[in-house]
Amino acid sequence: KQPIHVVGGGLAGSEAAWQIAERGLPVVLHEMRPVRGTEAHKTDHLAELVCSNSFRSDDSQTNAVGVLHAEMRLANSLIMRCADAHQVPAGSALAVDREGFSGAVSEAIAAHPLITVERGEVEGLPPEEWGPSIVATGPLTAPSLAESISAATGTDALAFFDAIAPIVHFDSIDMDKAWFQSRYDKVGPGGTGKDYINCPLDKDTYERFVAALVEGDRAEFKEWEGTPYFDGCLPIEIMAERGPETLRHGPMKPMGLTNAHQPDIKAYAVVQLRQDNALGTLYNIVGFQTKLKYGAQAAVLRMIPGLENAEFARLGGLHRNTYLNSPTLLDPTLRLKVRPHIRFAGQITGCEGYVESAAVGLMTGRFAAAERLGEAATPPPQTTAMGALAAHITGGHLAHQEESGKRSFQPMNINFGLFPPLEPGAIQKPEGVTRFRGKDKAIAKKKALSARALADFAGWLGQAPIAEAAE
Ligand code: FAD
Repeated sequence: KQPIHVVGGGLAGSEAAWQIAERGLPVVLHEMRPVRGTEAHKTDHLAELVCSNSFRSDDSQTNAVGVLHAEMRLANSLIMRCADAHQVPAGSALAVDREGFSGAVSEAIAAHPLITVERGEVEGLPPEEWGPSIVATGPLTAPSLAESISAATGTDALAFFDAIAPIVHFDSIDMDKAWFQSRYDKVGPGGTGKDYINCPLDKDTYERFVAALVEGDRAEFKEWEGTPYFDGCLPIEIMAERGPETLRHGPMKPMGLTNAHQPDIKAYAVVQLRQDNALGTLYNIVGFQTKLKYGAQAAVLRMIPGLENAEFARLGGLHRNTYLNSPTLLDPTLRLKVRPHIRFAGQITGCEGYVESAAVGLMTGRFAAAERLGEAATPPPQTTAMGALAAHITGGHLAHQEESGKRSFQPMNINFGLFPPLEPGAIQKPEGVTRFRGKDKAIAKKKALSARALADFAGWLGQAPIAEAAE
C-alpha cells in the first residue's frame, strides 16, 4: 500500500503520523534533523519542545487549553500520552520532563510497525507522485520548502514573522467609557459606521501612557537584532520612543471620533479596537504590536480608559514564524486548495503553541486517513476546542481581510472567545445562590462551554472510529 508522507517530525507531524498509523495505514515521516538543524531545536528527538516545558493548564472544566487536552486524550493522542507519562509537578498546569517526553514520542514512533522515519530535508512541496501528504514543518520551516510554498501559493500567502497586536475579550471592556464608532462614521463594505470600539485618553493619561510604554520591560529579541522593522509592523514602544506626539499622529489619532459619553470633550488621543472574530467576542487593539514583556504589557494596556479590567485572549508579540494565510489557502479539512493532495498541520497553519500544533496534527492525520479509507473527512463541530481551532485556521470565524486588502489573519492560542456562544439558558444559577454574577457567572459560563465541547467531541469521535484497523 502507498504510504502517506508526513514532512516534519515536530509536535504536529509526530501526532499526524501516529493517528494515520493507528488507522492501519503506512506512513513515511520525514524529519531533517540531525542532517540539518533549526535555530531553536537542540536534539534529534521527534516532538522536541523548543522553549518552555509547559502544555499550560490541564483544567478541562474552566480552561480552553485544558479542554483541548481532554479532547486529545479521548482521541488517542500520542503527544498527550507521552506528556502524561512524563509529567513534572506544576500546579494545575501540565508540564513535562522535556527529554523524557520527546524521547518517549521518538521511541513510540520508531516502534510502530507502520511508520518509517526518514532523516533528511525535504526541499520542496511533496510532488503529486507521493500521493496524499502532510506538511508540518513548523514556524522554522527550512527556506527551500518555504520558497516552494510561496511559489505555489503566491508571495503574499506566507508570513515569515509574526507581529501580533493584543486581543481583548469583549466582555471585559468597560463600555461605560468606550463607545462604538468608525472614524468619520465611515461605512466600509459590510460595515455599519460603528465598527470600532474607541477608548478616549485625555492629555495627562496619554502622557503617562507614553512614558510607561517607553520605560516598559522589553523582551530580548536576539534573532531579530539588526533586522529592520517592516513597515506597518513597528512595535508601539519603538514608535513612542520617536517622540511624545508620534502615537497621537499614528495609531492613537483622535480625528473623526466623538466620545458618545461626553460629546463636548474632545479626546486628546484614542485607542481603537477592531472586531477580531465573527462572533464579536474578541477585539484586537489596532496598531498595537509590541514586544513588551507580558507582565509589563498587561499593566501598561490597563492604563487605557475602558481597558482597566481587560482580559487578554493573547498579548502582543513579535517573533519569527513561518505560517500560511490559511483562511484563503486551506479548505475545511486543511487541504491546500491549489494542490489538494497536500494537507498542512501544526503551527504553519496559523495556530499557536505546542498543544494547538499537536491538535491540528491530530485532526490532519485523521482527515488524511479517513480520505484514504474512503470515509468522509469531517471537521469536529465548532463547539469543540478542536473544531473552534480548525474554524479559526480555515476562516470559519474570521473577518480575515481588512478593507485595505491587507492580510489580517494572525496565529492564536485556543481560547473560549473562539467558541460559539452558549444557547440561552445554558448557564444555570446554582441552587440556593441569590447573587449570581461577576466571577461566579464567568466560571459557570466556562464550565458550560467545556461540558458542551467534550460532549460534542465524544459525538464526533463516535462518527469517526478511533482504532478501526484498515485491511
Ligand atoms: P515543530 O515542532 O517546529 O516541528 C517542525 C519539524 O519540521 C521540526 O522538527 C523541523 O526540524 C522539521 N522541518 C522543518 N523543515 C523541514 C524540511 N524542509 N524537511 C524536513 N523536516 C523539516 N509554543 C509553546 O506552546 N510554548 C513555548 O514556549 C514555545 N516557544 C517557542 C519558541 C520558539 C523559538 C519558537 C520558534 C516557537 C515556540 N513555540 C512555543 C511555538 C510552537 O508551539 C512550537 O514551535 C511548536 O513546536 C510547533 O509545532 P510544529 O509541529 O508545528 O513545529
